[in-house]
Amino acid sequence: MWKSQIFTLYPEVFPGPLNKGLYGKALGKKLWSLKVNNIRDAATDKHKTVDDTPYGGGTGMVLKADILANALDNNKVKGERIFYLSPRGKKFDQKFALELSKEKSISLICGHFEGVDERILSTRNIEEISIGDFVLSGGETAAFVILDSILRLLPGVLGNEKSINDESFQNGLLEYPQYTKPQIWEKKSVPEVLLSGDHNKIKDWRLSQSEAITRDRRPDLWQKYKNN
Ligand code: SAH
Repeated sequence: MWKSQIFTLYPEVFPGPLNKGLYGKALGKKLWSLKVNNIRDAATDKHKTVDDTPYGGGTGMVLKADILANALDNNKVKGERIFYLSPRGKKFDQKFALELSKEKSISLICGHFEGVDERILSTRNIEEISIGDFVLSGGETAAFVILDSILRLLPGVLGNEKSINDESFQNGLLEYPQYTKPQIWEKKSVPEVLLSGDHNKIKDWRLSQSEAITRDRRPDLWQKYKNN
């Protein structure tokens, strides 16, 4: 079973959308698990304080290193990689998702306010991971994005593993266009080749579409693909 843990101030939002459809079924079948830890449970004073003002001044609050350390140490899993969701982190992508799908267990720390006391990162060997060049108000939505992209790669979760291989990014290209019934809709017909039943021709058409779309929309991916 692939295991994950979340450290958050809003435990009630999990598993949220990850408990629906195939992921919900996979959760029931114990193909993956999610342990949700409330950072506030690790607070030590009677007000359950988790944050404080930043040294050096400035707005906002910073999550306290000592409290986060309590939370992490109380829920330690041997050999587990721990990630702090942060706009400063290594950019998350499909390759990273595949790498994490092969871990036994990962922990994700959701920050809030101005972030976390820097000292927690080095003392607990925490890796920073970002879902893109923008700033969210908290790490929870980023955690959903990361878990969603990993779960669909776990064996047995999607049911049709073959479909993963055809998808955007898996081969360095964006996906080709898809069509379903009706064959003619608002005077627009489905491309003729898809009705031909000629699987080689269809494969070639899909690849050429993938290449054209990638070249047009993502010159960065196109360069990498061409150089491979
Ligand atoms: N002051 C910080 C931003 C804090 S945003 C800075 O400028 O770097 C509040 C929290 O949202 C962060 O602690 C982090 O957990 C989460 N977050 C914000 N943007 C994110 C991103 N792009 N990727 C992953 N997590 C993000």
